[in-house]
Parts: sequence; structure tokens; C-alpha cells
Amino acid sequence: MAEAKILHIAIIPTPGVGHLIPLVEFAKRLVDHHGFTVTFIFPGESPPSSAQISILNSLPSSIAYVFLHPVDLSDLPSTAGIETRISLTVTRSNPSLRELFGSLSAEKRLPAVLVVDLFGTDAFDVAAEFHVSPYIFNPSNANVLSFLLQLPKLDETLSCEFKDLTEPIKIPGCGLITGKDLSDPCQDRSGDAYKWLLHNAKRFKEADGILLNSFLDLEPNAIKALQEPGPDKPPVYPIGPIVNTCSSCVNGNDEYECLNWLDNQPLGSVLYVSFGSGGTLTCEQLNELALGLVESGKRFIWVIRSPSEIAHSSFFNSNSQTDPLPFLPPGFLDRTKGKGLVVPSWAPQFQILAHPSTGGFLTHCGWNSTLESIVNGVPLIAWPLYAEQKTNALLLVEDVKVALRARNSEDVIVRKEEVVRVVKRLMEGEEGKAIRNKMKELKEGAVRVLRGDGLSTKALTEVSLKWKSHQPEVEQDTTH
Ligand code: UDP
Repeated sequence: MAEAKILHIAIIPTPGVGHLIPLVEFAKRLVDHHGFTVTFIFPGESPPSSAQISILNSLPSSIAYVFLHPVDLSDLPSTAGIETRISLTVTRSNPSLRELFGSLSAEKRLPAVLVVDLFGTDAFDVAAEFHVSPYIFNPSNANVLSFLLQLPKLDETLSCEFKDLTEPIKIPGCGLITGKDLSDPCQDRSGDAYKWLLHNAKRFKEADGILLNSFLDLEPNAIKALQEPGPDKPPVYPIGPIVNTCSSCVNGNDEYECLNWLDNQPLGSVLYVSFGSGGTLTCEQLNELALGLVESGKRFIWVIRSPSEIAHSSFFNSNSQTDPLPFLPPGFLDRTKGKGLVVPSWAPQFQILAHPSTGGFLTHCGWNSTLESIVNGVPLIAWPLYAEQKTNALLLVEDVKVALRARNSEDVIVRKEEVVRVVKRLMEGEEGKAIRNKMKELKEGAVRVLRGDGLSTKALTEVSLKWKSHQPEVEQDTTH
């Protein structure tokens, strides 16, 4: 049998650009450093988005991709959470996945391993039918993974809502976490989003291993605890930080005015403001942030989308719903001319964070954004919006100490005075300096773990050897 047939890995990214971006970089490593071929298999409820297509067009030819038949989610209410939509998309794609594996098997090209992300575990049913080894790529951190591994047990013992617990929750290797800081689905245990989160978490134990996009210097205790063997706990491989350096690939445009603008700004003087691939602010919040940025007097690049009452309203396509500029306070663009730049919908984030003029990042604490900031040594202002971002913010502010938290007032709005306070403290204060130094240490740690003999490199090699040793079994099973 030809070698290319043997070393085949399939990856199912669940919908959302933030899920796809690290998996693309992961796939490139499997191809470039470990000799695998990779096929991305996309479940979806509609044809691929332009952001997805741009990313896929930038892939090397050694990485193939296929789209499964779109699933019908029209029975879901418009209020269904993203976790529900994503999980059901995978579940309802199983018939087409089965068909695809059937044809791959007939062509003797069945993958040895199927990698899914946190909401894709229902695809394990098809993997099991074809004796394909199931793995999870956790695009988030060790703290979140530890919590999810505990969730089935916590769910059995808890009689109230997490947010009503009077004591913080203790997760092995992690700091104390209050119910309110848990991810959005955990705020309502009767909701569908929670049921899907729990459903996936219960299936984690079926994985032959979990790949973790984090590294030891960043979360030493949580990672050590995860690596201790235990019941219902697959081996965990910390292989991060895996970041995609080609953020311009997403909209296919590598000519960005903001990068030229950055060239003309003083060293470390610019605050980069972005809420990830899909985050949006309410109209009132957008105004307070704008006014705070003006009053802080600091230089900034702000990736802006038109306002929405739903914080993740651009999650599935990354684009602003309408032109966002008319929503800015009157005179904002004139008042910030030369000092600030507003970029609608999408900016080349990695290149901005890598630029020497960038000195801080006001972020929604998505895990990719966090890792991209770490590998570039850029300190953070934590402004979580949805999903598990509050848990990430807690980790970054209280535990790792690489971020300042922008505090909401009672009415959940971050007021302009708070924006001014936190921006100034990060960009000019002593506290900002301490956070910057801590970020530099982490950046060095990230370089170390990714060297040839580094811990994350070794962890990925260990997994890849395990996958390669799974091959003969697959070869026998291709008669399925
Ligand atoms: N991103 C980007 N430009 C933007 C917004 C986002 O390149 O204007 C990229 C960012 O670099 C990161 C990803 O989109 O790789 C966002 O992932 P993250 O986990 O931070 O947040 P999510 O979008 O999943 O909420």
C-alpha cells in the first residue's frame, strides 16, 4: 500500500472561523513535520462562508477539503445558542459523514484518525463504525478542558444553577472559579446550549486522546493535573501555542492600510482593539468605548462591526451586518484623525500584534487571540463577551497576570471612564509595565516549548507516533 494512503488524518472543524484557524495551522504541522496527509471535512447548515473559502484557498495542496451536505436546522428557534447550532450541525451531518467514509474506505483512503473539536463528538459514532481512532482538538485552554471533564460529575451532584452557588468551584489544578465566571451555556442548566455542552463533555472519555492548544509555562498546574491518569480521562497532549500567522488569508487581502499606518507610529504606542471573529457590542457600549478611546488620548486600531444586542451576532460569518461607521459618536473620526484607525469587520490581527508599534491589546479573550498576543509578547485588557471568554479572562487576570480587567458597571456596560482608566493603566502605568514583563516571559516560554526539543513539539511527536502505529490496524479494517 502506498505511504500516502496510510498516513491520512481527517479533521472536522465545527462552524466558526475561530475554530478553523488553529486547526489549519495544526494540519500544516501534521503535513510538514510528521508526513501525514490531511483532509478537512466540513459540516455546515449553509454553503461555506467567504471567510472559510478564503482560508481554504490559502491551503497547501497537501491538505484537501470536502463539504458535507448542508443540514437543515430550520426547526431550531432563532434564539438557539451557538453551542446548540454547532453541535446539531455535526450530529445531523453523520449520515453524509458515513457516506464519505464509506467511499474513502472503498478507495482504501480511510483516515487512520478523526480529529474533532469540543462540539463535534457525535462524529465519534461514525469513527467507531469504521474503526477510525477518535481524537479531540481542544481549541481552548487547560482550565476550560479540566472543567468540561468534571462537568458530567458536577452536573450529577448539583441541585441548583452554577450561578447560585455560594462557594466557588474547585477544579483540579485550576484556581477557584465562581459560577458566574463559567461559560454562557452554564448560566442556564435548563437551556439547550447547556444540554449540548454536557452531551459533548460526557463523550470526551471516548476519545483516544485530547490535543490541547496550550503550554506548560502558561498553565502549569492545570496541565499537570490533566496529565495525571484517571478514570474517564483520555491522555492529554499540550501541543500549543498553535497560532495561525496568516490572518490576512481570511479575507484574501494582504494589502492593509493599517499595517502601513502602524509603520509610522512610535514603538509600543498603539492599542489594538478587537472582539474576535464574531463579537459585537450594543449601540450604547460601542459609544462608551469610542468616547473612552478618545479621552484616553492613546493611539489605537479598532476593528469595528455594526452594533447588535447579541454579542456573537457575527459568529458565523465575521462580517459587520451593515456599515459600522455611522454608529460612531458624532465627530469621532475627526477627533481621532492621525491617532486612531477604525477598520470595519476584519484586520490582519497577527501582523498587527507582531508589529513593534503595537503595545497593548483590548480583547474579548478568545483563546486564539490570547495565544497570538502571548507569542508576540503584547499585554492585554480583558473584555469578555460570550462563550467561555469570562473563564479565560479570569485566568489571564487573576492567575497568569497578563491582563487588566475592564469592569462593567452594574448595568453591564463598561463606561467610558473605565475605558480611560484601564487603557491608561496598561499603556503607561507601572502595572502595565509589570504585565508587559510577564508577557515577555511567556513569549520566551512559547518559543522554548516549540523548539525541536521543546515540550509541545515532543507532545505532538508522541501523538503522531501513536497515530502511525495505529496504521496497520486501519489497513486491516479497510475491508469494512
Ligand atoms: N481575527 C483576525 N482579524 C480580525 C478578527 C479576528 O485575524 O479582525 C482572527 C484572530 O487572529 C484569531 C481569530 O480570528 O485567530 C479569532 O479567534 P478567537 O479564538 O480569538 O475568537 P473567536 O473569534 O473564536 O471568538
